[in-house]
Amino acid sequence: MSKYDFKITKTTNPKPKPDPNTLKFGKVFTDHMFTMEYTEGKGWHDGQIVPYGPLTLDPAAAVLHYGQEMFEGMKAYRTRDGKILLFRPYMNAERGRKTNDRMCMPDYDPDMFVEAVKTLVNVERDWIPEKEGTSLYIRPFMFADEAFLGVHAAHHYKFIIICSPVGPYYDTPDGGLLSTSIFVEETYVRSVQGGTGFAKIGGNYAASLKAQTNAAAKGCEQVLWLDAIEHKYVEEIGTSNAFFVIDGEVITAPLLGTILPGVTRDSVIALLKSWGVPVTERRLLIEDVRRAAAEGRLNEVFASGTAAVISPVGKLVFSDSDFAINGGAIGAIAQRLYDELYGVQTGKIKDDKNWTLEV
Ligand SMILES: *Cc1c(COP(=O)(O)O)cnc(C)c1O
Repeated sequence: MSKYDFKITKTTNPKPKPDPNTLKFGKVFTDHMFTMEYTEGKGWHDGQIVPYGPLTLDPAAAVLHYGQEMFEGMKAYRTRDGKILLFRPYMNAERGRKTNDRMCMPDYDPDMFVEAVKTLVNVERDWIPEKEGTSLYIRPFMFADEAFLGVHAAHHYKFIIICSPVGPYYDTPDGGLLSTSIFVEETYVRSVQGGTGFAKIGGNYAASLKAQTNAAAKGCEQVLWLDAIEHKYVEEIGTSNAFFVIDGEVITAPLLGTILPGVTRDSVIALLKSWGVPVTERRLLIEDVRRAAAEGRLNEVFASGTAAVISPVGKLVFSDSDFAINGGAIGAIAQRLYDELYGVQTGKIKDDKNWTLEV
């Protein structure tokens, strides 16, 4: 028995389930949501499952003006034998606590977070699609709903979790990987040392839309962010962590405050180490990436994150030149990582690292 026993109020008006063959990302939401309140002096209270629906918010709610909020992103997968698995949910819970600390938002018990996720996913079991490549995306978030226009940390917050059945990230016939084109962003930056780059917050995303829009106009799916001070070192790809394979060494940016510590990133590093593939967390010059590409030593580039798991990059676009990577084809390391991670997440491959948690 858990120390959390959230009240459940079921909807009397369930929605029809979407066609699993045409599911997109984050457009359809399930029948219920989790809600909880935080009141200063009282702590987190009144956690419950209620029918999904609009929120009532005071127009002066602090989140609408100063953006005091956080979010997390994770998935539940249905295995072939009907079990429901979460992937390393305590990492999301602990990362969220660090985000809250940075945003002057209240701390919480990681068990409370995971128990809330499990309770909601359990209520929405029937919403988790079975088709290959599909899953239930889970979006926990917290925000300041105190009505006050002064600038200070709020005294009242909400914690909400919503769920969305999602299809394969790539629109390929078998839902398999597709390689992307990435624009090397040399003007705008995502995060600075001392800033909020390690925190999962809407503000980071709002500030990234300009670069993302410019990249899309150039036919690229995402941008490669460089460091904010010298514009010389590679950081992240869009809203995912970036990996570069040069001469057989896998390199990713170190967690020095500007990088979001991805659960997938951590899992990729652990897998590579267990396979004996050289992997290094270190600062990497974009100039070294460019030179390696020109000399044919840039073996692979890929991004990692919950939504796509592994996203191979087929082309790097600079303002003055383009480089195809691995002939635009999906690299062997990216493919192996995807197969292993997705296999463990969906129970097809033995979980010898104890990463999954059954709901
Ligand atoms: C969420 C996120 C990631 C990926 O983290 P995962 O835990 O692997 O999903 C990477 N970068 C940014 C900026 C993010 O917001």
